[in-house]
Amino acid sequence: MKIKNYINGEFVNPIEDNWMPNYNPSNGEVCGQIPDSTKKDVEKAYEAAANAFPEWSSTTLEERSTVLAKIAALIIERLDSLASAESKDNGKPISLAKEVDIPRAASNFQFFANAITQFSSEAHESVGFNAVNFTLRQSIGVVGCISPWNLPLYLFTWKIAPAIAAGNCVVAKPSEITPMTAFLLGEICTAAGLPKGVLNIVHGLGAKAGNAIVAHPKIKAISFTGGTKTGAHIASIAAPMFKKLSLELGGKNPNIIFADCDYDKMLTTTVRSSFANQGQICLCGSRIFVEEKIYEKFKRDFIKKVAQLKVGNPSEETTKIGALVSKEHLEKVKGHIDVAVTEGGKLLFGGNKVAVMGSENGYYLQPTIIEVADNKCKLNQEEVFGPVVAIMSFKTDKEVLQLANDVKYGLSATVWTNNLRRTMQFSQQLQTGIVWVNTWMLRDLRTPFGGQKDSGIGREGGIEALRFFTESKNICIQY
Ligand code: NAD
Repeated sequence: MKIKNYINGEFVNPIEDNWMPNYNPSNGEVCGQIPDSTKKDVEKAYEAAANAFPEWSSTTLEERSTVLAKIAALIIERLDSLASAESKDNGKPISLAKEVDIPRAASNFQFFANAITQFSSEAHESVGFNAVNFTLRQSIGVVGCISPWNLPLYLFTWKIAPAIAAGNCVVAKPSEITPMTAFLLGEICTAAGLPKGVLNIVHGLGAKAGNAIVAHPKIKAISFTGGTKTGAHIASIAAPMFKKLSLELGGKNPNIIFADCDYDKMLTTTVRSSFANQGQICLCGSRIFVEEKIYEKFKRDFIKKVAQLKVGNPSEETTKIGALVSKEHLEKVKGHIDVAVTEGGKLLFGGNKVAVMGSENGYYLQPTIIEVADNKCKLNQEEVFGPVVAIMSFKTDKEVLQLANDVKYGLSATVWTNNLRRTMQFSQQLQTGIVWVNTWMLRDLRTPFGGQKDSGIGREGGIEALRFFTESKNICIQY
């Protein structure tokens, strides 16, 4: 498949006509070509967006809402083909793409189709001054949206939907590693009647096309999801230009398990929170802390359940663990396992590459469980972003709270307990943007989403996203 840029409502070749191979992680074969876009393509996309902005930003909220809802409906109509493209491009099990990625991409558009009709601004009566203040929340202009490879369409649309709902025009770049569904989204937007130039999709490398979006002097806001290092680089370019910035970055999330939890629910969910999408979800709980009283039992049961997960070709319905996204990533994750073992970690399960019959050149790795004795080890401090979890035991609430917070990241945490006081103490004291208690990855799209510390700045979701994608202006009138 030859993937093209989507600029001004049309599919176009990159200006310099340079292309890169796109790999299928399930078998290591080249499955298409993608544009290696440059600054020139970004400029062309910017021009299209800037031209579309005056009209799009003055459409009524109902009109915008109707178009967004149409995009959502078309995504659902094409669920099967989008899911299959996502699974092929990313290596994720087809069942996951069908149940999570694509439905959620549709929900992103439907949610913001509804939310924009309910978005309002504040008014303040300045009593005693004969004055009234009201706040305008105006579209920003042209904004940049840059997303990663792990949940390709899901995260791409999580940015684009609120940006266009709020009346902006967008220059967006999906990950060069998973460009397929973003390409298919272009067709859907045209079919849904999104005016030309409102959404422009430029494919290519982060350091080239991505950098050109961030450095463009007239792109006024950047919404980025990806690695912490990339986020820091983006901030160093965008901050001196005074751009609005939303950075959703890496994580090293604790999963804290107390003996008083609902054990069976905890166990099933912990298998999922460890290995869903081959552990390549920023919210996966990669540091598992288990209360000493149930540690040995948990260890036995967890290993038994993980051993049942079928590693296989992502296109098979029964596959639970598909391929990792790329050869480089597979080697990186394997390297983390080797370091963990060298540092004294005890390999309890997995650790090896898997040759899947008929797809021997694919990037498969066993789900891996490593027992560690100390939270200071690299495995507990560095993001692996693969099917690898570390487990260790703890004795007291105070000890585990300290362990959970003793990391540079602060994205999410999960706590398993039925103790109300402990629930509240951990909710208040965990240094993360999200705390799940007795559940994992239950997402209500109205809630603020984002991290503390090196996991980023800003929040996505609901009103937070609409506020990010608008500029507030206060008007004060004395009468
Ligand atoms: P990445 O940082 O390498 O790339 C993310 C995106 O940024 C890609 O589109 C890439 O092309 C682009 N990019 C790279 N360098 C750039 C530059 N200099 N300027 C502009 N754009 C640039 O991340 P990745 O490997 O694609 O994704 C994995 C990372 O994403 C993990 O660290 C994971 O935790 C994180 N992530 C975070 C969240 C969250 O919500 N916090 C969600 C998913 C993934």
